[in-house]
Formats: sequence, C-alpha cells, structure tokens
Amino acid sequence: MTIRKKYRALIITWFVLGIAFIVASTKIHGIFIIALLILFFLLGALSRSLKCPNCGKKVLHNNVKILGIEMKVWTSWIPAECQKCGLVIE
Ligand SMILES: [Zn+2]
Repeated sequence: MTIRKKYRALIITWFVLGIAFIVASTKIHGIFIIALLILFFLLGALSRSLKCPNCGKKVLHNNVKILGIEMKVWTSWIPAECQKCGLVIE
C-alpha cells in the first residue's frame, strides 16, 4: 500500500467512523463521544507516523512558506516529493 493510499484510507475512516460516532452519541448514548475522541487521537498518531520510504522523514511534517517566513509545520497534505531526499511520494 502506498503512503497516499494509506493517508486516504485514514481520512475516509475518520469521516465514516466520525459521523457514525457522532450520530451514535446523539441517538444511542453520549459515551460514543469518548469513542470519537479515541478515534481522533488514534488516527492523528497513525497519520503522523507516515514516513518517507527512502529517508524516514515524516511526510506530513513539512516546511511551508507563510508570509515569506519558512516554517516547519504539520500539514494536512502530502507534498509531491519528499522535502529531504526528493523521492517522488506515491
Ligand atoms: Zn525522503
């Protein structure tokens, strides 16, 4: 499975299970909000652990230029190429 497919699967899981837990928390029991929080932290940790297969750099932790200042931030997208080694990320 490629990094992009893994990331897409995580986002789809977040939407599908997230909506399911929100609906369940209003219709069934409020305890499902806890499940939603667990899902939030679990998927967050999983997506932060996605690494470049070549150099091991975390693909969502990137240099981004904001108002002319370059900063290292967690992004919600995967760049076309790894910023460290230049490998095309599939
Ligand atoms: Zn790399």
